[in-house]
Amino acid sequence: MRCGKTPELRKKLLNVKGIGRETADSILLYALGKRSFVIDAYTKRIFSRHRLMQEDGDYDDWKAVFEKALPRRVGLYNDFHAQIVRLAKEFCGTAARCHNCPLRQGINLPKDAKLF
Ligand code: SF4
Repeated sequence: MRCGKTPELRKKLLNVKGIGRETADSILLYALGKRSFVIDAYTKRIFSRHRLMQEDGDYDDWKAVFEKALPRRVGLYNDFHAQIVRLAKEFCGTAARCHNCPLRQGINLPKDAKLF
């Protein structure tokens, strides 16, 4: 699979019963080292709380924003997502603990602020 092209592999994975887009992208990024950004509930929670994206937006729209904005490097996708997970676990849970959060300044962004 490592020799395959990412879009084709993603299509094949999505054809497997039980594999959704987040799982397919996780397999591509973490198991195969392919450049495919993973969107999860943590990502949606943090970025929508900062009014940068709509939480109920389509998965592929979210993915496209990150992949357009970030340098196209597997290691960076990997680390960026890991930082999101850590931020969510330490500060941005179901209840936000903004007081000590490193992103706390961002919560005053205007409603129409764009992510990039
Ligand atoms: S400041 Fe931190 S905890 Fe508060 S909403 Fe933003 S990411 Fe979540």
